[in-house]
Amino acid sequence: MTAIQWFFSFLKKYRLNLIIALILVTIASGLTIINPYISGIIVDDVIKGGHKELLLHLVLLLIITTLVRSIIRYTYLYMFETTSQKMLYTMRDYVYRRFLEEDFTFYNKNRTGDLMSRQTGDMDAIRHFVAFVIYSIYENALLLCFALIMIFTVDYRLALCMIAVMPITVFITSKQLKAIKPAFHNIRKHFSSLNTAVQENVSGNRVVKAFAKEDFEIEKFNKENDGYRDAELNAAAIWRKYVPVFEFLSSSLTFILYLAGGIMVVKGSITLGKLVTVSGYLWMLNNPLRMAGWLANDYQRFVTSVEKIYTTIKEEPVIKTPGNAIGSKRLKGEIEFKHVNYRAEDDVILTDINFKIQPGQTVGIIGATGSGKSTLMNLLCRFYDVTNGQITIDGINIKDMDLYRLRSNIGMAMQDVFLFSDTIEGNIAYGNPNCTIEEVKEAARIADADAFIQNMPDGYDTIVGERGMGLSGGQKQRISLARALLKNPSIVILDDTTSAVDMETEAHIQNELGALSNRTVFIIAHRISSIKDADVILVLNNGKIVESGNHDSLLAKKGYYHTVFNHQYGEFDKYLKTKQKGGKYNG
Ligand code: ATP
Ligand code: MG
Repeated sequence: MTAIQWFFSFLKKYRLNLIIALILVTIASGLTIINPYISGIIVDDVIKGGHKELLLHLVLLLIITTLVRSIIRYTYLYMFETTSQKMLYTMRDYVYRRFLEEDFTFYNKNRTGDLMSRQTGDMDAIRHFVAFVIYSIYENALLLCFALIMIFTVDYRLALCMIAVMPITVFITSKQLKAIKPAFHNIRKHFSSLNTAVQENVSGNRVVKAFAKEDFEIEKFNKENDGYRDAELNAAAIWRKYVPVFEFLSSSLTFILYLAGGIMVVKGSITLGKLVTVSGYLWMLNNPLRMAGWLANDYQRFVTSVEKIYTTIKEEPVIKTPGNAIGSKRLKGEIEFKHVNYRAEDDVILTDINFKIQPGQTVGIIGATGSGKSTLMNLLCRFYDVTNGQITIDGINIKDMDLYRLRSNIGMAMQDVFLFSDTIEGNIAYGNPNCTIEEVKEAARIADADAFIQNMPDGYDTIVGERGMGLSGGQKQRISLARALLKNPSIVILDDTTSAVDMETEAHIQNELGALSNRTVFIIAHRISSIKDADVILVLNNGKIVESGNHDSLLAKKGYYHTVFNHQYGEFDKYLKTKQKGGKYNG
């Protein structure tokens, strides 16, 4: 499917509306023939022929045609506008759903500003095309044909003189279309970059301020702003060259008419009334010629935008629910990784991962930063697909499962906490909006968030901003944990979820989590204290599981885990001893 075919697939639904509206355009254009024709009759029959009694009737006819034409014009303008809005609504909705379906790879590839431009500026170019350009092209083509036909009926020699200009117009319009295309692509590119610059600066505003980089950011933004302005000016420079040509061509019709027509009237081969009629049709020829350049511009702008949107969303997401998905509604949570490898582009991220977890077990994952802990969990949720090997839950390959069912069984508190601009209650209940406030409070209590939420100005109704404004890092983490738990999932993933809370709070959360039965829990952490009670601990290094076992067996191995333990608890012991002696601890 091409981009334009994709666009027409949306327009198809409204074809009846469009056909009716185009019929109205045809009628209105047809009616425009009448007035010049009547003017000719007034000159020849009333003024020169002396049939004064006809004048009133003819003027009345002029008024009625103008009135009817105005009403019809109002109706079709209204129809095109509403059709364009309705079509755009459907298209925006489709594109938005598509954005939601897309996988992590898509979001790694596309900048937020680009995606926002697709939904705003590009959509507007399409709306303008449906609301204005379609009928304008049709109307102008009709006016041109009607006028030519009418001039032919008056005098074929005059008509032939006028037709001589047409091939030149067609040639120049096609030249302009070709010349302006790259310029519009350039505009769209710069518009997206400008959007990205604004979006990044607004959401990264605190970093900009903290590093006092306002001047640097203004300079960066100015570059984008210059780029966008230059792209627009460049396009304007191209069509500016063509505008005078179209102006000249349309005016040349007037010269031709009065030269050729004047000679004919003087020689007596046509009447003065006929010349008045033809000059009445002149604007119907002029207007399309004058509009050709503008419409070519708008058309190219529309094509560019449709292509931009279509190329953004045309690739099907790689990670999809298979046709015949299997698996029960609620999973038990028996998880097995079999020879799992994961590569991103050419980087080897995970190598030969093997482990099996029984339902209800708690798994601790520890390892250096960048060792692949989050990636391991991203594979389990199918945010990415394994390159080799397989992951099974309850014996079923996750690739054969319904994606929605898989993810609704997993409650994940991500490392990078994101809170929506909503109340705290809305944020916690995100995965389970039909739950009661008591359930929200219970989840918050387990996450040790209930107390601080109660102390907030509006309690659970407190609005937290775009990125959880006004909350500390640990508070955000606990809201995110409550959100993961409220889903009542059979698998819980806590990715670095207690890293920003103090040890006491962490111990409280762990006690509460320990009391929850029937859940397989993954805890990713850097602190041994967070995972030491886990049934199984996986130690990752460089994308490989280098050790596994429980706390005691790992300590006995005296390997990586033992070193980390000594490092963390050795320091703690030193701290305690120094404190007991009343000294100052220096790290
Ligand atoms: P941390 O403790 O800092 O959270 P981690 O163990 O969770 O680290 P991962 O986020 O799993 O580490 O990343 C492991 C490696 O994979 C890193 O080197 C990272 O740069 C790389 N990586 C992760 N995701 C991608 C991706 N989508 N494309 C390319 N490389 C990736
Ligand atoms: Mg991580």
